[in-house]
Amino acid sequence: TSQVTTIRDAAPVLPQVKNIIAIASGKGGVGKSTTAVNLAVSLAKSGAKVGLIDADISGPSIPTMFNVEAEQPAVKKVGDKNIIVPIEQYGVKLMSIGFLTPVDSAVVWRGPMASSALKQFISDVEWGELDYLLIDLPPGTSDIHLTMVQTVPVTGAVIVTTPQKVALADANKGLSMFRQPQINVPILGVIENMAYFTPEELPDNKYYIFGKEGGKKLAEKYEVPFLGEIPIVQSIRESGDSGYPAVMKSGITQDSYMKLAEEIAR
Ligand code: ADP
Repeated sequence: TSQVTTIRDAAPVLPQVKNIIAIASGKGGVGKSTTAVNLAVSLAKSGAKVGLIDADISGPSIPTMFNVEAEQPAVKKVGDKNIIVPIEQYGVKLMSIGFLTPVDSAVVWRGPMASSALKQFISDVEWGELDYLLIDLPPGTSDIHLTMVQTVPVTGAVIVTTPQKVALADANKGLSMFRQPQINVPILGVIENMAYFTPEELPDNKYYIFGKEGGKKLAEKYEVPFLGEIPIVQSIRESGDSGYPAVMKSGITQDSYMKLAEEIAR
């Protein structure tokens, strides 16, 4: 939009990045990171150049989900500046707070530290040319959200929620935060995760474990696009834990994530 262009012209941060997309949720545990990972890989599979910043300091799970937990990004000198080389896996360039802290350590990130880490991930990382830079935000509303919008021109935000009442209540807050004047990020749409469960032996049955169509109703209420739904699938959980994203394997789940990515790329 013209608004984005204006901000870009005024502050050319990451001029080689075409779209910066925030992935947000109200509540933790709704599958925000899982969705961010599978969307990033979907976009890369469709031929786009993609980066992903894990800004979820409360639980940086991106390194595990990409099976790069033990990796440490290289640092190189460009002029008198230290530039971090992102880790690349499954066609996605990655940067995570998890790469900077030892595995299993309980590092407490204070708000300002986390904010400066995010700033560093944006300006001191060799992202190069990208079609999409996804930012996996912490759940809820935080300093990080404010730091993000003050640092880069965010193209839009995707809200991930389950259909559950308590998740929706928080998603409502998250959505209205993006519309506050000091944040002011366009909402690209809502994704309903864990929408239903279908047992393998009863392929025609849908069980609405967390409630029905909550994400869809949220999108309607705020008059933003409903991007689609992802059911509860055991292999999505397993592939997250094993570091091999579900979208890498052909099947219904792959099709669903590819479709979601297509909606976002529009
Ligand atoms: P968040 O980033 O919102 O805290 P995660 O992405 O870490 O949530 O997901 C929480 C848990 O739910 C993880 O164990 C993940 O593997 C699992 N999960 C997420 N989405 C699905 C899904 N659609 N089906 C099955 N398990 C899922």
